Amino acid sequence: MVSCIFCNMQPPIFENDLALAFFDKNPVSKGHVLLVPKRHAKDYFKLTSEEKLALDDLLGLCKGYLDNLYKPDAYNIGANCGLEAGQTVFHCHIHLIPRYAGDMANPTGGVRGVIPEKQNYKD
Ligand code: AMP
Ligand code: ZN
Repeated sequence: MVSCIFCNMQPPIFENDLALAFFDKNPVSKGHVLLVPKRHAKDYFKLTSEEKLALDDLLGLCKGYLDNLYKPDAYNIGANCGLEAGQTVFHCHIHLIPRYAGDMANPTGGVRGVIPEKQNYKD
């Protein structure tokens, strides 16, 4: 396999047997964390149930950590699965993005913003 940056991320802020978490080097917001399986797997759909549980465990730990550290008002959780969905690093990762009141003019729709003109909606 070609070398993969996410196969070699040290030190993590949290880890368990199957997954680890570290800060994104280009954070969308203060405290943006990435969570990855330790096993090299291309995207979320390649994970085992055990790996998904391990990632979910770390999501909870990271949220508690970030709540204390930065006191965000809300979070977005997301995973880009495939080139056309915006994935750039092909080792599965889940973005945990803290959100802060006023960090954008109108946050309505959240992750719908993957297609910006479809983010906000009415009805
Ligand atoms: P994606 O577009 O979902 O594949 O996101 C890749 C993410 O990895 C981006 O948010 C990058 O800022 C982040 N990233 C790339 N290289 C590193 C690195 N060496 N350490 C931490 N985050 C990284
Ligand atoms: Zn990898």
